Amino acid sequence: MFLALVRPLVTPHSTETLILGAGYAGLAAAALLAAEGRGVTVLEAHDTLGGCASFFKTGPYTFDVGATTFSAVRPDRPAGRVFAHLGIEPAFERVDPGMVIRMPHADVVRHASIDSWIHEAQQHFSGDQPGFWKQLYHLEEQVWSLIDGKSYIPPVTMRDWMRMVDPRNLVSLPLLPGLVRPVRHLMQQYGVDNDPTFRRFVDEQLLISTQNNAAGAPYLTGAMGLTYPSETYYPVGGMVRPAILLLRSITQNGGTVKFRRAVTSIERHDRRWRVTCANGDVYDAATVVSSIPIWNMASLLSGDADQGPARWFQKHAERFPRVWSALTLYFALDGVPSVASPYVQLHLDEPLPWVHSDSLFLTISRPGDTQKAPVGHCTVTVSTHARIDDWQGLSPEEHAERKAIMTRAMVAYIKRRMHEFDGMQWIHEDAGTPWTWVKYTHRHHGFVGGLPHATRQPLLTLPPNQTPFPGLYHIGDTAFPGQGTPAVMLGAWNTVERILS
Ligand SMILES: Cc1cc2nc3c(=O)[nH]c(=O)nc-3n(C[C@H](O)[C@H](O)[C@H](O)COP(=O)(O)OP(=O)(O)OC[C@H]3O[C@@H](n4cnc5c(N)ncnc54)[C@H](O)[C@@H]3O)c2cc1C
Repeated sequence: MFLALVRPLVTPHSTETLILGAGYAGLAAAALLAAEGRGVTVLEAHDTLGGCASFFKTGPYTFDVGATTFSAVRPDRPAGRVFAHLGIEPAFERVDPGMVIRMPHADVVRHASIDSWIHEAQQHFSGDQPGFWKQLYHLEEQVWSLIDGKSYIPPVTMRDWMRMVDPRNLVSLPLLPGLVRPVRHLMQQYGVDNDPTFRRFVDEQLLISTQNNAAGAPYLTGAMGLTYPSETYYPVGGMVRPAILLLRSITQNGGTVKFRRAVTSIERHDRRWRVTCANGDVYDAATVVSSIPIWNMASLLSGDADQGPARWFQKHAERFPRVWSALTLYFALDGVPSVASPYVQLHLDEPLPWVHSDSLFLTISRPGDTQKAPVGHCTVTVSTHARIDDWQGLSPEEHAERKAIMTRAMVAYIKRRMHEFDGMQWIHEDAGTPWTWVKYTHRHHGFVGGLPHATRQPLLTLPPNQTPFPGLYHIGDTAFPGQGTPAVMLGAWNTVERILS
């Protein structure tokens, strides 16, 4: 009682719209709203932007922390549409080949041209490869027509449902089985399922794009994941560069971005939202757009245990009690390796400690990219899938020991398989575990990579962007339409359309 009396009265900073998180979802939503003249304030816990697509610097080197590839940057695709709408022109290089997959038997080259890729696939794998891939590219085009430009999907309000049943949408009906049938179903249809090498190839490609395998990923979103290497873009200077342009757009249009503002609670107060930060700042707004993951949102919101926003997020979080985390390795080389693509998926021919995928994903900075490494040097970011159970309940010493073992094993393995690095000095070595993701992105347990695409959790049942609570919206890779920078930018676009409509 006495404490309550002496607690200093905090006057909330009042703003029209609060955006929580300065990853790609939050930045895109804030930039789009600011461009429409809306007052926006972005609150970010870390001292820099980007979230899972952020960066760190060591000496003359800049490393991407997690995400490294851009896609869907054509003006008719989600990321490209946001940039074009805001008049932003990030420096992207389309890479061809989009990826090299170093399998135990050979290198498989993902040429950008569809015909060249199909020819390559026929050299390595059996079954009706042309039929299978043509069908995937066809589906990939169609899936955009199903979800793109339709901010009323997934339907939440009566008005959304009315728009859903528009006769023009009926053309998409034949696509719906592709949301609940797995990629494996298509593979069987084209007789490509009998080849174990191809099954492994598909599973590893799907794992990095849908967070699932051919038995679990729906074939519609699987088509997007399997075809994306045909249109892969390298962001010059790193993944954070386009994010910096979004931030500039926000501030040029009168918005504010506040770093070191870790949100600790979100409450409903006098028909507005009151958001408190760890440093004691309090903000108040009619509209809140949060890109903080569902698990964290459940604990940040106050209210009734049986209903209300906390329960709503909790219910969604309970549907996804375990998702992936990631292990990462970062190093620079005093040379420029001759590899056909900056992106290499290295299939493992032996298990590596605490690695829960059969591959490592390497991103090598381009020779001319002096924002990432000096001339004649390069940086390499390596990532792979991890389970948080391996990293929980450890003391700091046990964690450090496990991380050192993992790092040594990964370094030795890469040196053995990447002969292109022979003779080069490894100048800097650092690594990341689920603990690192918690520290820098605040994500619950270090869950990253978003919600896996799964036939058991169909796309249209992912947490919607509009919550049932007035003025509270949810975006980012734990909301519809899911993970990856283009998807979270599509979620931001749809949400802004809803707010402005
Ligand atoms: C290893 C790895 C590799 C990947 N590779 C690719 C790739 O190549 N291409 C691709 O497109 N996608 C890739 N992804 C996925 C992609 O990075 C993410 O899906 C996307 O960046 C998520 O953006 P977001 O804004 O939803 O979330 P985040 O990037 O997580 O941003 C959320 C932000 O909210 C902040 N925040 C959290 N809690 C609070 C709080 N309480 N208060 C204030 N701020 C808070 C965080 O600090 C963070 O900045 C990869 C992901 C990982 C982990």
